[in-house]
Amino acid sequence: DYAPPRYDGPRAAEILRKRSEYLSPSMFYFYKKPLNIVDGKMQYLFDQDGRRYLDAFAGIATVCCGHCHPDVVDAVVRQTSHLQHSTVVYLNHAIADFAEALASKLPGDLKVVFFTNSGTEANELALLITRLYTGCHDIVSVRNAYHGNAAGTMGTTAQYNWKFNVMQSGVHHAMNPDPYRGAFGSDGEKYARDVQEIIEFGTSGQVAGFISESIQGVGGVVELAPGYLPAVYESIRKAGGLCIADEVQSGFARTGSHFWGFEAHGIVPDIVTMAKGIGNGIPLGAVVTTPEIAQVLTRRNYFNTFGGNPVCTAGGLAVLRVLEKENLQHNALLVGSYLKGRLKALQQKHEIIGDVRGRGMMLGVELVTDRKQKTPARTEISHAMDQMKDMGVLVGKGGFYGNVFRITPPLCFTKEDADFFTEVMDI
Ligand code: PLP
Repeated sequence: DYAPPRYDGPRAAEILRKRSEYLSPSMFYFYKKPLNIVDGKMQYLFDQDGRRYLDAFAGIATVCCGHCHPDVVDAVVRQTSHLQHSTVVYLNHAIADFAEALASKLPGDLKVVFFTNSGTEANELALLITRLYTGCHDIVSVRNAYHGNAAGTMGTTAQYNWKFNVMQSGVHHAMNPDPYRGAFGSDGEKYARDVQEIIEFGTSGQVAGFISESIQGVGGVVELAPGYLPAVYESIRKAGGLCIADEVQSGFARTGSHFWGFEAHGIVPDIVTMAKGIGNGIPLGAVVTTPEIAQVLTRRNYFNTFGGNPVCTAGGLAVLRVLEKENLQHNALLVGSYLKGRLKALQQKHEIIGDVRGRGMMLGVELVTDRKQKTPARTEISHAMDQMKDMGVLVGKGGFYGNVFRITPPLCFTKEDADFFTEVMDI
């Protein structure tokens, strides 16, 4: 019963021309010839010709409930017809209800919410809060992390090798606790000593804070070595700093075993940042912290125009309800573990698969031309992505060398989808 709009030849050619003339070249990182996607329905996307694609990337790990989930669409449409915008200067039930529902998903005293429009802004604010609260400037982040692309977050991102990164004074990049490529394998405590040394040798002994993802997403779905985060949190807190968990990608049930990625590490952060899954594709982000820490923003007149927009927060509330009603965290765990098992079996068959990792529906497959040397298979991954696209499957890529498949589908992915995905990848 589904018929996406179809464009004839001249219209399609016109879109192609506009894309190459007016859109940023960075749009062509994933596909040299990107698709013209016109429609989405749950785990599927549809191109201009009505061709259906199984979406294993979910708009960069964002669409958690499924594309255009009817409950989310309904909540957004209803709110749009009442009030589209007011700013957080005024109260509105959509903002207040969502803030309460969000706080109920977090442990301990984490219950004061600041809304933003994106993950980048959430992290910018979190970094600012650590500095205001502690009166210190030094921040520690992890190499290969991704925290956003504004001035502050780009500095903590530690992936870009751009001269503009020097804007970030006071940011220290710690060794990446990467079990596959890191010098200490899976020994989290050894990597954590690097943070301790940064504090001792690179700062006054006092720091503002530490920021890390629970599983690195853009960096190639890198699971941090066990024991790393608890040890680092202890060192940072001893040095007076606050610990930020960047849950932009790993939050909202994506990792399956827990609602938040940090829970798997047995830690409770001082500040949690989130975006992506929070709105199922509606631009929204948030910073959640404790009432005591939140005090630093009293009388500082800190807000942004769209943060807490009622249409977005109404959508956010619907997302939380759908996640619960459809038990999507459980599905992420079951189907994600099944898919990981199938991908591990592929690894036995194909020399090019160096590593299969991740949790729930945040999985990574790293391609190497030589398993011993771990030489990144860059060209091969681009070819494979094109071939998979032709066979009806969309997937992401990332990692420092751009050689890791990022598999982050909508959490409604089924076992049959996982089978189809694996068969298409087995080429
Ligand atoms: N933090 C993490 C872990 C991310 O993966 C991203 C984006 O990919 C961001 C922050 C930045 O979020 P946004 O692109 O919404 O600004």
